[in-house]
Amino acid sequence: MSSSPKPARAQNLGRIPSVDVLLRDAKFTPLIAVFGRTATRDCLREVLVQMRSAPQPEVMPEQIAVAVERHLQAINAPNLRPVFNLTGTILHTNLGRAPLPDVAVQAMVRAAGAVNLEYDLATGQRGQRDEHVAGWIKRLTGAEAAIVVNNNAAAVMIALNTLAFDQQVIVSRGELIEIGGAFRMPDIMARAGCNLCETGTTNRTHIGDFEAAIGAKTAMLLKVHTSNYQIKGFTKSVPEGDLAHLAHTHDLPFVVDLGSGALIDLTPYGLPRETTVRETLQAGADLVTFSGDKLLGGPQAGIIAGRADLIDKIAKNPMKRAIRLDKITLAALEAVLSLYAHPEKLAENLPTLGLLSRAATDIKQQAERLAPLVAHALKPLKT
Ligand SMILES: *Cc1c(COP(=O)(O)O)cnc(C)c1O
Repeated sequence: MSSSPKPARAQNLGRIPSVDVLLRDAKFTPLIAVFGRTATRDCLREVLVQMRSAPQPEVMPEQIAVAVERHLQAINAPNLRPVFNLTGTILHTNLGRAPLPDVAVQAMVRAAGAVNLEYDLATGQRGQRDEHVAGWIKRLTGAEAAIVVNNNAAAVMIALNTLAFDQQVIVSRGELIEIGGAFRMPDIMARAGCNLCETGTTNRTHIGDFEAAIGAKTAMLLKVHTSNYQIKGFTKSVPEGDLAHLAHTHDLPFVVDLGSGALIDLTPYGLPRETTVRETLQAGADLVTFSGDKLLGGPQAGIIAGRADLIDKIAKNPMKRAIRLDKITLAALEAVLSLYAHPEKLAENLPTLGLLSRAATDIKQQAERLAPLVAHALKPLKT
């Protein structure tokens, strides 16, 4: 021993065996068997770096093995895992929005292998992936045609980019919304290559405001459903029918971003009235865009329904390839849409609707039953 004490790091280096020596130790054999030599070695290296960085008493191989095992288990545990949604918000974006029904889960499992995704089994020809759901969307909304993409933000983006690139889109100032994080209408508009033309005021927009805003560069009138807030008091917005009429007299498409996109009237389930996709199309919208995982109760998706000639143009936009749905999502969406064919059973079969239409007394009873269990489960976390 020298007279002056060694720095802590050097002392630790001396006390901790090398990676190669440790890997040959019997304590590491079971870890190598379960997790593989490469992962065990990489984890061991990380653990040793940590141990060497802090002054330690002598460490035994078994202690190191315990730390490595813990680290390996943490890395290999699924990150994305089920949680209890007790927030009271059923369509919670941070918790994955709509919980899927069993039929959708089964459909996703069936689609995991080889499927007729883009193959028409009847003709033996190449098929279109969106055809698996387009029929359902047309029947349920009365639309001439339909197309599906990654989410509603993508649906709005591709509709704008296809029909109004380098041109002007007129929107009411009261509808320039932000929906959580990065979906802000003016930003989407800019990235889609469109010029936003705001009209009216925050609380009141009249048909005359739209009329005055229409010019040579106008390519679309857009209405955005303000689904996550309300302006109350002295307000006015233009009815969809009037906007559709104005758009059509100028030979422009009228597009509605409906957001939630209810497929059926929800009032019989005791829910507030929401304009349905069908009603919006009947009011004269040329295209309606909406989410798959909001009120519809399905997987994350964006649906565009409406005029066949416009849908056809969107289908040909190269962007479609970048935001198309995968087979797993298509399988889930098809299964969820098919449940709407039986509205009498919908609240029973579709978890989103079942949860939204539960009686308050039922929710209260469950909350009271769960409260002590939740408190008990959370106790160890608090100490
Ligand atoms: C939720 C919503 C969007 C975004 O839809 P995503 O499916 O989350 O991409 C766009 N517009 C409106 C009006 C919405 O409510």
